[in-house]
Amino acid sequence: MSLMNVKSYAAGQWIAPDDTAREIESAITGHVIARAGTKGIDAQAMLDHARTIGGPNLRKLTFHDRARMLKALAQHLTENKQALYDISYNTGATKRDHAFDIDGGIGTTFVFASKGRREMPDGHVLSDGDLEQLSRSGSFLGQHICTPLLGAAVHINAFNFPVWGMLEKLAPTLLAGMPAIVKPATATCYVTEACVRLMLEADILPEGALQLVSGSIGDMLDRLDCQDVVSFTGSAATATKLRSNPNLVQNSTRFMAEQDSLNASILGPDAEPGTPEFDLFIKEAATEITTKAGQKCTATRRILAPEDHVDAVIEALSERLSKATVGDPRLEDTRMGALVSADQKRDVLEKLDILGTEAKRVFGAPDDFLINGDDAQTGAFLPPMLYHCTDPDNAQRIHDTEAFGPVSTIMGYRDIGHAVELANRGGGSLVTSLITHDPATARELTLGTAAFHGRLYINDRTSMKESTGHGAPMPHMVHGGPGRAGGGEELGGIRGVKHYMQRTAIQGSPDMLSAITGKWVPGAETHERPAHPFTRKFTELAIGDTLHTQSRTVTLEDIETFAHFTGDTFYAHMDDEAAKRNPFFPGRVAHGYLLISFAAGLFVEPNEGPVLANTGLDNLRFMKPVSAGDAIKVQLIVKAKTPRTPDYGEVRWHVTLTNQDDEKVAEYELLTMNAT
Ligand code: NDP
Repeated sequence: MSLMNVKSYAAGQWIAPDDTAREIESAITGHVIARAGTKGIDAQAMLDHARTIGGPNLRKLTFHDRARMLKALAQHLTENKQALYDISYNTGATKRDHAFDIDGGIGTTFVFASKGRREMPDGHVLSDGDLEQLSRSGSFLGQHICTPLLGAAVHINAFNFPVWGMLEKLAPTLLAGMPAIVKPATATCYVTEACVRLMLEADILPEGALQLVSGSIGDMLDRLDCQDVVSFTGSAATATKLRSNPNLVQNSTRFMAEQDSLNASILGPDAEPGTPEFDLFIKEAATEITTKAGQKCTATRRILAPEDHVDAVIEALSERLSKATVGDPRLEDTRMGALVSADQKRDVLEKLDILGTEAKRVFGAPDDFLINGDDAQTGAFLPPMLYHCTDPDNAQRIHDTEAFGPVSTIMGYRDIGHAVELANRGGGSLVTSLITHDPATARELTLGTAAFHGRLYINDRTSMKESTGHGAPMPHMVHGGPGRAGGGEELGGIRGVKHYMQRTAIQGSPDMLSAITGKWVPGAETHERPAHPFTRKFTELAIGDTLHTQSRTVTLEDIETFAHFTGDTFYAHMDDEAAKRNPFFPGRVAHGYLLISFAAGLFVEPNEGPVLANTGLDNLRFMKPVSAGDAIKVQLIVKAKTPRTPDYGEVRWHVTLTNQDDEKVAEYELLTMNAT
């Protein structure tokens, strides 16, 4: 294999490594396979490029445009993922590991593409939460909005996930409308570079949206301001150093960190040997130790089991781990590959010495194991290893030392309170799993541990077939954790997008809020036009377009007919005396569903036209009862429009039913699909 010169992509140019470049070794053989880095990366030029070209280019696009862009990127990477697999073996990763890193990264991008289209408007402003009524009559309202930050998002990533680690930050950043400068860890930057190259060559992203630093980032952090963001994944030591950069502190530059984490897995007291939960626990613990050779931020470092079951756990887990073939990740029969480098192996061995002061190694020996594959004998391999700590209360290092390799420490707990105490001794972690079939145990453990953990993964016989795994951060769910885990938060669906946006409280009149958010708000201007709105196509409808219907008197016969036709003969509609005894009703009243059916009868335009389907209604409220003899009428207002396909889009109508005294009797939002 020829030596790879890993380039940076800065201000629209590919920049080759120079004579200060760092050498990168193959995890499998230990031989130098690549070089990366230059002494003179022009950080200011990169930031200028992002701020003046990438940002404006992205912000011209709507959320939906950017979501479509992500989908196209994910599709392009899917078509080309074999090239990434091929190069990734050098990091020590097996084919199964690629599923986490490469497929996981692509999958995450797809999820953000889909969420962007489904959960965000086709506009430039994202509303956050509900409208706030700040005045008596409604002439002054409040709404929180999110708009993209105007700077650059600097992503500093760890070595263990060269693809997922980039894409899980990049997808929400681009969706938000911010350009990114990605700095992968040097040890595996050749994989990230290959992925960036694929994305840029596809010509999907606007100029300036994505830049890459292979090697040192130079003085970039000294040049950031309040419109920039740093998202960091790596060691606690580096995070502490970077987040205390005086320039970042001075400018209150947003800094998100995801760092060391002493994740735990708790075997519930009910999950005795012989139960499906016990087997599940062993299986998941073994997976966590062996996947990516334990180099996963979410990997289980501490295994907590009821004291009575500790021996059984050691025995079952050791048996399972003994079947894990360690060696050349390219070979089909290899279960666990190499650590990323000899340095990383050295680091793990040093950490094992520390763990060894408080725990005894009960499985695996770092200097006595077989390596599968003739070409791999000089690589950075370690076997899976288990430690057992008999006195976790008086131990400290097992709760604060992360050996970032195929290592876990087992400890016993006396009761749930003790399990909670031990789990929380990690000082804040990314994930803890609770394996129990008892909902009461799950609840007690959750209440005791949730504040210390970014994610709780609860699994049992019911969910195990479809569960996504302790170690797999899902793009829909928050990834991050308090304390030792860095105090940051990533992913979590659209929450993750907001990390690259500023939340601003907007206060003003309904017309102002409507103009800013692109949504009609109560009190804002409405306009009636001669043609019925149902005769206008999606593209012809404007926010605020309104229809006022005729009124219709509700009779006792209507109520009787509806009751017998539907079978809803609830006493409030049928029995005047009984209804009067109910504090909500003056006597017999019309069914709420009769009212919304009559409302439809009043507002529809019956002929074939652009309205294709009624897809539902939201936020239905019945506000005042309607008695026989009352007359209802309807106001329909176009509140929001969301394109769905080139052929149709969703219209959200604000619907208000009023009685003969103009009192609101019902209110809801109707959703229709309209042809474009
Ligand atoms: P590091 O903290 O050493 O590096 C993380 C990132 O920071 C890399 O991209 C690195 O670049 C960069 N970096 C380091 N120093 C600076 C600096 N002064 N300025 C700007 N960027 C800098 O972590 P590693 O990825 O090397 O992993 C080391 C340890 O971190 C592991 O052994 C493990 O304990 C922990 N870790 C924890 C993870 C978690 O999420 N819990 C994930 C991965 C690692 P470069 O590579 O070029 O030095």
